[in-house]
Amino acid sequence: MNWNSDLIGVKGIGEKTVKLFHKLDIYTVRDLLYYFPRDYEKFEEPKSILECKSGGIVTIRAKIPNQNMELRKAGRLVLFKFYLLEGDKRIEITYFNMAFLKNTFFPGQEFIFRGRLEEKKGRFSMDQPKFYKPEEYSKFLNTLQPVYSLTKGLTSNFIQKAEKEVLKNLSLEQELLPEYMVEKYQLCSRREAFETLHFPKFEEEVLNARKRLVFEEFLAFCINVKTQKNTDMNLPVSSPLLKTAATTRLLEQLPYKLTNAQLKAWEQIENDMAGNYAMNRMVQGDVGSGKTILAILALLMAAYNGRQGALMAPTEVLAKQHYDSIMEMTEKFHLDIKPILLVGSMTAKEKRRAYERIELGLANVIIGTHALIQGGVNYHDLALVITDEQHRFGVRQRQTLQEKGDNTHILVMSATPIPRTLAIILFGDLHLSILDEMPVGRLPIKNCVVNTSFREKAYQFMQKEIDAGHQVYCICPMVEAGEMENLENVEEYAEKLQEYFGEKARVAYLHGKMRPALKNQIMEDFADRRTDILVSTTVIEVGINVPNATVMMVENAERFGLAQLHQLRGRVGRGKDQSYCIFINGNQNNKTTERLELLNKSNDGFFLANEDMRLRGPGDIFGIRQSGEFAFRVGDIYNDSEILLETAALADEILLAESTKNLFPLLETFRAEVGNEVDFRSI
Ligand code: ADP
Ligand code: MG
Repeated sequence: MNWNSDLIGVKGIGEKTVKLFHKLDIYTVRDLLYYFPRDYEKFEEPKSILECKSGGIVTIRAKIPNQNMELRKAGRLVLFKFYLLEGDKRIEITYFNMAFLKNTFFPGQEFIFRGRLEEKKGRFSMDQPKFYKPEEYSKFLNTLQPVYSLTKGLTSNFIQKAEKEVLKNLSLEQELLPEYMVEKYQLCSRREAFETLHFPKFEEEVLNARKRLVFEEFLAFCINVKTQKNTDMNLPVSSPLLKTAATTRLLEQLPYKLTNAQLKAWEQIENDMAGNYAMNRMVQGDVGSGKTILAILALLMAAYNGRQGALMAPTEVLAKQHYDSIMEMTEKFHLDIKPILLVGSMTAKEKRRAYERIELGLANVIIGTHALIQGGVNYHDLALVITDEQHRFGVRQRQTLQEKGDNTHILVMSATPIPRTLAIILFGDLHLSILDEMPVGRLPIKNCVVNTSFREKAYQFMQKEIDAGHQVYCICPMVEAGEMENLENVEEYAEKLQEYFGEKARVAYLHGKMRPALKNQIMEDFADRRTDILVSTTVIEVGINVPNATVMMVENAERFGLAQLHQLRGRVGRGKDQSYCIFINGNQNNKTTERLELLNKSNDGFFLANEDMRLRGPGDIFGIRQSGEFAFRVGDIYNDSEILLETAALADEILLAESTKNLFPLLETFRAEVGNEVDFRSI
């Protein structure tokens, strides 16, 4: 067995279960080992009924009371209910379809109950709590139990068994890092790291294990980026582009004036492109700061010079949106350009036709997804490559696209608020243009963070906005039922909403697992106002621009990082109308609430990212990824920024010394083994 072995060879995993693993994007042994728990349940000291607070998971020690237990049918369900009592507080306990429990709970007997304690109008209740005999519980006391994200049919237990099997058979003994490094940074071994993360005992160990993997992941990443950097500095272009009046004309025709920040960025871009060396520039600007128009201006400049420009977006939906808006401008402002769309879901025939037009130079503004860098595409004369939402792409992809031309100019656009120190590491060689100013006339978004009891009110509010001709997004963390208890899922939620609104609103839903063509259709329907409410996972997080949408409601907001919530929020408030964001907090512990309340205080992405970092500290293990977009397998650029800075400096040291002193004997093996684990597709 090795890292790349297929899961089907793992003992206990058969044809049927392997499909379930595939659903979780786990295909190889490596994927499995890197599939870490999303959380660890801590078996803490049980509390008395009076001590327990509602809104989260609690562990209660209580006696079964001397009173009747209720067993009755409700529709297809059999309910089994009783009350736990202390003083004048009582908690209603309910089990569904577990009638046999009446022979388990005897009056006077003590049990430990563990589950979510809800409170509604002063009445406390717990559904389906796990229960233990005190002596049984004491065995777990103070230990951690991993909780994995699941799919229907797969349990945490089963995943753990598979992890055990893999850890038993995989050779992980060789230490790839030099000894001095292991000592200096107090790293545990790789084996220990994986074992601890899947079979944890105590919290401190878990943190340390995680640190080891973050360290090696970041180090490999930094070494790779830095070797890359040296290769594409100052590449001379075959012929400099000329500045063109077409861009100035477009700016005069636009219904708005560029902000000063946009103007400055455009000046920088224009100068770069008119220079003798290939541009390498990143435009960084918060959601809604107006990055797209800069891309369009740059594409225009390339096209009017008789060359080609390509714009690559991370999703088809976004590519299509860019294409549509460029087409619209082309017609409206009589631009002399020939745009074309190239995405994966096009038929073979459509693609062939696009390839031909691109190769012959009949199309000069090419917009698409990864399809732009596929083997079949040959560009006639590619002078400019733009990637939108840069962090979603790999360095290699950027490079592949660039290599389709001859030292092409590169422009990347990102909305992720990254402090400059980190940006320099992550994007190495790029010059930065920062859009730190929002277009004028935007009304600040009104935010509210509320609990689930506010839903009804929120729906009424949504109805009002829809009646006024506006549209609404509803975000759920899950795609389908059963993936995780207690979390809203897109499919059922959409059904629920349609039932609620009936004739009064048209509800559609969208998620990443759908066919691309269907996704495009649904997105287009929403953009053209054929639907009123779009229930979606975070697939709509990047780039989507439907200015008529004025309400963003996020269910289980506690499941998302602030930066991500901020991105989601950026989907509204893109037009002139007042927009609203409703964050539903499904877990009212103090820390979550404090974190979410920050969204009320600020609409500034940088501020939020920093505050989030400060609030969460290093105690957060895998709970919430601050930035889902930076798909490091383990590390999180915000929470682990210190390690990132450290490894960047270390990478410099290693690369500098490598030729003279042999600081890192296993460097090549390390890069091959660990470097491959850094998913360059996503950064
Ligand atoms: P992002 O930076 O998030 O990619 P977009 O480029 O999609 O933002 O712009 C968001 C919206 O703002 C678009 O509808 C765009 O037409 C509009 N816009 C861009 N620049 C300005 C401006 N200077 N003044 C007013 N509206 C603008
Ligand atoms: Mg954008």
